[in-house]
Amino acid sequence: MELTCSARLLCHESGLSFLGHARKLNLAPKTRQASAATTRVYRAPSAVQQSAKKESKRARRPENVEGEFYVDHTCIDCDTCRWMAPTVFKHSNPQSAVYHQPESPEERLKALQALLSCPTSSIHTERPPKDIKQAHDSFPIPVDADEIQGVYHCGYHSESSFAASSYFITRPDGNILIDSPRYSENLAKKFEAMGGIRYMFLTHKDDIADHKRWQARFNCERILHELEVQPQTECVEIKLQGQGPWNFLGPDIDLIFTPGHTRGHVCLHYKKGNGVLFSGDHLGGDESSGLELSANMAITYNWYNVNILLESLQKLLPLEFTWLLPGHGRRRHFSSLEERDVIIKEFLARCRVLISN
Ligand SMILES: [Zn+2]
Repeated sequence: MELTCSARLLCHESGLSFLGHARKLNLAPKTRQASAATTRVYRAPSAVQQSAKKESKRARRPENVEGEFYVDHTCIDCDTCRWMAPTVFKHSNPQSAVYHQPESPEERLKALQALLSCPTSSIHTERPPKDIKQAHDSFPIPVDADEIQGVYHCGYHSESSFAASSYFITRPDGNILIDSPRYSENLAKKFEAMGGIRYMFLTHKDDIADHKRWQARFNCERILHELEVQPQTECVEIKLQGQGPWNFLGPDIDLIFTPGHTRGHVCLHYKKGNGVLFSGDHLGGDESSGLELSANMAITYNWYNVNILLESLQKLLPLEFTWLLPGHGRRRHFSSLEERDVIIKEFLARCRVLISN
């Protein structure tokens, strides 16, 4: 889907990105035309009408299968539940729906983790789940406890960053929160027990969510490139300047300047195990189950310059990483650096064809 320039601008300025918001924003010109043509009086709906409307939006979508879990009409189609609990949730135009009720304890835990991570609280159970505390306690979730110990997915996605994933790294030189989850005291207590947050690294301006609350709770130093600073992030403690790479966080971490999605986007390269790239919105996997990378995300949801994004990608090829953990898009785990390079080069070629058409 191609966004109009005005929709792109609004998405960009509001910090709201991606499809769900864009659809809503595209309605704006029509509304303006109508109000310019005539002066009309609109009565505010009564409290009863408002409450009924709200209730119907929270009703079960008919696309859900029968059973305890369901998705309501407020879903913003962000994909979070579908990758967190793929055996339970699927895309059912134009939103998510439950296609299989969880049966095993593992399936149920994943469905509850998705329920807690849904940025719009659009997932429900017919009765209050008795095991919800167990689900809260399961965050942050290890990404791969064997290969990259100490790397976690935070969950609790925020609507203000259109459900971007955020991550937590525990390490002797200071724990790092990468992009901002929705503030949750449950999660804060877990972070506290794991040694707190020393730094909060923000990949770019879109995925900052509750950065102020996390900073106030842990007194951590926030890091953001100066080109990404806006009024709400003027207060960040460390503003990166220039084109990096920056390695002041320790020998295990490099910050890589990757403009393209936005002007001052930065990725974090963690050199543990076979390496992890926290790619923000620069690069992410496609919703398909293969290893394909998402050209749609790179081209359609681009707020600065696609050609510059593709140039920045060249900087990533010499780095060692087999894990790709994005803000938006699916995570990817490549079996080798060779496989990763083939996938990235195929992605580059596909993007070049798409933008030349
Ligand atoms: Zn973004």
